[in-house]
Amino acid sequence: MTRTGLYPGSFDPIHNGHLDIIGRAVKLVDKLVIGVAVDTGKVAMFSLDERIEILREETKPLQKQAEIVVHGYQGLTINAARSVGAQILVRGLRAFSDFEYEFQLTAMNQQLDREIETVFLMADPRHQAIASRLVKEIVSMGGDITPFVSPGVKRRLMSKAGRS
Ligand code: ADP
Repeated sequence: MTRTGLYPGSFDPIHNGHLDIIGRAVKLVDKLVIGVAVDTGKVAMFSLDERIEILREETKPLQKQAEIVVHGYQGLTINAARSVGAQILVRGLRAFSDFEYEFQLTAMNQQLDREIETVFLMADPRHQAIASRLVKEIVSMGGDITPFVSPGVKRRLMSKAGRS
């Protein structure tokens, strides 16, 4: 049986915290589907196609460890998990503040599908504070985002922010 995981998120754009979770998730599954949520309720800096393209570029070096597939999805995450045949939903936990929301979401998802297990990976302390929203804020105010994103993502962010 192929063990498949779905790692959902908005990835606007992918940062080192996400990359760390992906690098650890590929040790747990044979195939990791990275699901880029279309309806996030947030105004995105990068289009869906751009976010998918960046994710594909950034995860290329990890393809040796597991098959990694990136695509967009609309609607309920649990339905996306079902449609890609995932047995596992992968989530990253940053801080205690993430816990209550994730706890509730997992409980609801369990009611919707008991066959799919949510697995939480604790954020690496080095990446715990990173959030896409903050990275975008920092770059738009002229700050240095080198510690938070890859060189490729930094280039794209600087260009979007009109700083290149
Ligand atoms: P962000 O909050 O950075 O916009 P997303 O909404 O795209 O991130 O989150 C996708 C998944 O990645 C979620 O499970 C989230 O908890 C996890 N995640 C986000 N940032 C980090 C981080 N710094 N370290 C570990 N996991 C993270």
